[in-house]
Amino acid sequence: MRLEAIVGDITTQAVDAVVNAANSSLLGGGGVDGAIHRAAGPELLQECRALRAGDLPDGLPVGQAVATGAGELPARWVIHTVGPNANAGQTDPALLASCFIESLRVAEELSAASVAFPAVSGGVYGWAMSDVARIAVQAVSGFPARSVELVRFVLFSSDAKAVFDRRVDIA
Ligand code: ADP
Repeated sequence: MRLEAIVGDITTQAVDAVVNAANSSLLGGGGVDGAIHRAAGPELLQECRALRAGDLPDGLPVGQAVATGAGELPARWVIHTVGPNANAGQTDPALLASCFIESLRVAEELSAASVAFPAVSGGVYGWAMSDVARIAVQAVSGFPARSVELVRFVLFSSDAKAVFDRRVDIA
């Protein structure tokens, strides 16, 4: 599996699966979540509503992941995961690691070869970018991948990319 970090917009990534830093409701929010829903169009929200009406009446728990189609995004699937919210006292690194591991598990179920991740919990949810990078790269590089050949961390700033690069280089 190849790991890379780039500066970019996750909504434009032509990979098999893009990961969404969603919230438990799965019904949209700000940050990456808002950008993904805006770019994907109403089909994505419909699919999320269907999940809520079906298997996930109480929403998606922190650290879990679930896939939908990708609407009008260039990707094939969106994998929604819910990061821990440090501002609400969710500071257990295992919860954040679980987001990356469960997302990859879902990607494997889809036989995805390429997956793009944002800095889950590194925005409104208040985790330090250095912690997100360390936990993300450790979780991904320890994952026993079969179908997934490329994991791309798509960061919104060159500072965040530099933080991820340092971790990717020593992985
Ligand atoms: P969380 O609520 O999990 O913290 P956010 O969406 O607030 O998620 O932020 C996660 C990270 O994603 C932040 O570093 C933010 O700057 C970045 N981000 C926001 N929009 C995009 C985008 N379109 N593509 C990639 N990263 C983005």
